[in-house]
Amino acid sequence: MVRNHYSSLHEAITDIFGSSRTIVSRQSVSGGDINESYVINLDDGTTLFLKTNSINSFFDAEAEGLNAIRKTNTVRVPTVLGLGVDSGMSFLLMEFISSSGQRIKGYWETFAEELSAMHNTDVGSTYGFPHDNWIGTRKQKNTFFDSWIDFFRDCRLKPQFDAATNYFSVDEMRKMDWLLEHLDLYLFEPVKPSLVHGDLWSGNMITGSDGKGWLIDPAVYYGCSEVDIAMTELFGGFSYHFYDVYKQTMEPGYEDRRELYNLYHLLNHLNIFGSGYLQPVVRIIERYGHLNK
Ligand code: ADP
Repeated sequence: MVRNHYSSLHEAITDIFGSSRTIVSRQSVSGGDINESYVINLDDGTTLFLKTNSINSFFDAEAEGLNAIRKTNTVRVPTVLGLGVDSGMSFLLMEFISSSGQRIKGYWETFAEELSAMHNTDVGSTYGFPHDNWIGTRKQKNTFFDSWIDFFRDCRLKPQFDAATNYFSVDEMRKMDWLLEHLDLYLFEPVKPSLVHGDLWSGNMITGSDGKGWLIDPAVYYGCSEVDIAMTELFGGFSYHFYDVYKQTMEPGYEDRRELYNLYHLLNHLNIFGSGYLQPVVRIIERYGHLNK
């Protein structure tokens, strides 16, 4: 059982590993976009991974997401050890994934099969998630919906678009409004919801000492599995061996939906990083924002 309310890192370490354990070193890790991360060593040789953020309870959502993926028993994720506050900073303490960099034979095919198994795990019949979480530095809304298309409109595209309206011309706004009302022309209702990672770019996949792909930093919800595959194609880094296996299970026409799903992440990047992302966003709005017939 993960405790949520440690009032110091020391309290977490001694509760989890015993009262005589002490931290002997703490090295800062680069590579994260949002949080401060550290590799921590204990006096008995145990290595741990620590993330900190100044926002109160910031890591509740990440811990919940990691645990949701873990429960599917499919793709591996680091074990969440504890959550708390130390010197005014929220922290998440987790298993350290050590990597030799060596990948197993069939690394991408195996990952595709495991991700597909995660997407096929039964998670009930509604879209959404019990709590809001984060996508980068922005809140990700998670109300429950019976319809995937309604969820994707109201909890994904619309909040991002509403936050970005200053960037758009009247014509682009009109096209986006039309698109939001006509998503059902492009998207379909899946047979059932899938647990999705929600932020599946190559930086959120690491290779463990078992030589397999592990997932980190999720923004999970119950959605259409195509959002994860679309995002892997947004920034690249996944091998064609992955797609050779995963795409065998996909519904026809995915390529025509891919950009619409990635519009969410591009709008999010526009809202976080600014106008460098405007051009691809506008191109997608122009592509889908009216019927090209
Ligand atoms: P952020 O939330 O700031 O984006 P990440 O979760 O992506 O931070 O972590 C930053 C880096 O630390 C990642 O690129 C990854 O290589 C590494 N990392 C993350 N979690 C672990 C872990 N449990 N064990 C080992 N390395 C990790």
